[in-house]
Amino acid sequence: MTEEIASRDAYRSTAEGKVVLVTPEGVKLNRTVFYGRGGGQPGDVGTLRYAGGSVEVLDTIRREGQIVHVVADPLGLEPGMEVEGVIDWDRRYRLMRTHTALHALSGVIWRDFGAKVTGGNMEPGMARMDFELDSMSNEFGREVERILNEELVKGYPAEVLFLARDAALTDPELIRTKVNLIPEYVNEIRVIDIVGLDRQADGGTHVRSTLEVGPVRVVKTESKGKANKRMRIELV
Ligand SMILES: [Zn+2]
Repeated sequence: MTEEIASRDAYRSTAEGKVVLVTPEGVKLNRTVFYGRGGGQPGDVGTLRYAGGSVEVLDTIRREGQIVHVVADPLGLEPGMEVEGVIDWDRRYRLMRTHTALHALSGVIWRDFGAKVTGGNMEPGMARMDFELDSMSNEFGREVERILNEELVKGYPAEVLFLARDAALTDPELIRTKVNLIPEYVNEIRVIDIVGLDRQADGGTHVRSTLEVGPVRVVKTESKGKANKRMRIELV
């Protein structure tokens, strides 16, 4: 099992580790700071440095739950080698801000309009989220933008919690975000709690406070079918 630093400390940008496995698909380490693509958040990019060289990490993915670093050229790497992983921190930090903005958006739309999220995806600085809503006008987009920005500047703390499965399954806030769909073998459920605004099971990386998100703009509202409306947001 790889020790995944990003799961507990999203603010680390480098970490030392050892190569465990090199496959045509990529490299597994015993310990990594890279986030593996999932839950709508792209995988990290960056560099693996080693004595006498370095290799570019083009993407980070998951295979059977394990983090795989997709590298430009694995030839210099062998099991047992010590490496230092360095992520593209500017990109990651932008993704953290974007991801926290999405959770805050989902919290606002649930609290003020009673609509659940049906899907979402993000790139650094921009994202989309789909809601169980019958309609979504431009005016609605502007109103949500105003409320969201008012909430973000209040500086809600975003905390990472690890809950026992039984506790998570009976948490009324987590039920709405379909925590019951998490596979049964997962005993400990990671939760991002933007305390007082949004609480959901999530594997991604987030900023510590909604203040760090900065202002957000709603750039588009569109229909994706009956009771499925999409909102696109951008960090300003
Ligand atoms: Zn999330």
